[in-house]
Amino acid sequence: MDMQMAERLQEALADPFDIAGHQLFVSASIGVATTPAIDPDTILRDADTAMYQAKKSGRNRCAAFHPGLHEQTSRHLRLASELHGALERNELRVFYQPLLSLTSGEVTALEALLRWEHPSEGMLFPEEFITVAEDAGLMPAIGAWVLLEACSQTAGWTQDHSGLSISVNVSRHQITEELIGHVQSALATSGLSPNQLVLEVTESAVITIANVAVLERLREIGIRISVDDFGTGYSSLVQLQELPVDELKIDRAFVQRLAGTDADAAIVTSIIELAHTIGLNAVAEGVETVAQAAAVRSLGCDSGQGFLWSRPVGSSSVPALLQRLKNPELSGRSLPSSGARGATPL
Ligand code: C2E
Ligand code: CA
Ligand code: CA
Repeated sequence: MDMQMAERLQEALADPFDIAGHQLFVSASIGVATTPAIDPDTILRDADTAMYQAKKSGRNRCAAFHPGLHEQTSRHLRLASELHGALERNELRVFYQPLLSLTSGEVTALEALLRWEHPSEGMLFPEEFITVAEDAGLMPAIGAWVLLEACSQTAGWTQDHSGLSISVNVSRHQITEELIGHVQSALATSGLSPNQLVLEVTESAVITIANVAVLERLREIGIRISVDDFGTGYSSLVQLQELPVDELKIDRAFVQRLAGTDADAAIVTSIIELAHTIGLNAVAEGVETVAQAAAVRSLGCDSGQGFLWSRPVGSSSVPALLQRLKNPELSGRSLPSSGARGATPL
């Protein structure tokens, strides 16, 4: 099998499957090994290694094997074994990034973003170890820890900032019955009320039937569901209307292209309109410039998040950050008055 054949296989799988009246999409990650090795086990191992590489670069990709991949695989294995003890050794951290209302300018929520303070490699970002954690079956335990840590720390900050919510990312593998228990125990232990917790799930994770059932139960408890990276998946308007969700987070790729063509603005406009038509909040992520913030605000977006206001910070820096953002003048990040679309970049 060569790369062209792999791509043809993916094209064949791209059309939705009609299962019991539901349109379901599947994706395939394909690894290709064309080594002249005669040993079938070696070829399979190399193809498997390439398949992991394909998975790492995103959903629905193909990758070809090359010898350098072995090194990456051994790093993956080493990190997996180290990650087993990372929770007990207290090496995981939750960083926080604020979400601001684009109408009032106030911080309405924080997003919890996982970090691993690795003893020899320094601070590792989720992209470097979430797949490792998922492959090693560690995500339920790590996810439960993130929920508890984020809810407990937020409960402390709400004393000075009432109404502050916390948004926690949940990977597709975490959306099981078990998650409901983890959420309930994080809320009970921290004392945070359910309406202050938002779970961020990706579009493809939300549309499976089993996941819808779990998310519906979480919403019955009072938790809000946000669709992360919106615009990169395949949800149709009809599907969205039926899904148990409260918020759409517009993927940062669209936000960052806003200063470009009218076509990019049209995509963002239609996502915001879509959200509002079905009663959802629209959040623009990855806002880096005053021009982007002004543009998403003038398009009617409800909230914004991005380096413009703050990078994700460690828990000890959160109180000062919240204080700084209470005064947009002082923070130097006040937006031009509404309607100032296409304002000068920073
Ligand atoms: P995400 O949910 O889309 O989170 C936003 C990512 O964009 C964060 O990267 C954040 O640092 C980055 N970001 C925020 N503002 C800007 C901006 O203005 N410009 C740019 N270029 N980037 C910005 P981070 O922290 O590296 O997280 C990456 C991904 O890892 C997250 O993407 C999320 O999918 C996943 N993740 C993070 N924490 C967790 C977790 O606790 N559990 C799970 N399952 N996934 C997590
Ligand atoms: Ca997120
Ligand atoms: Ca996102």
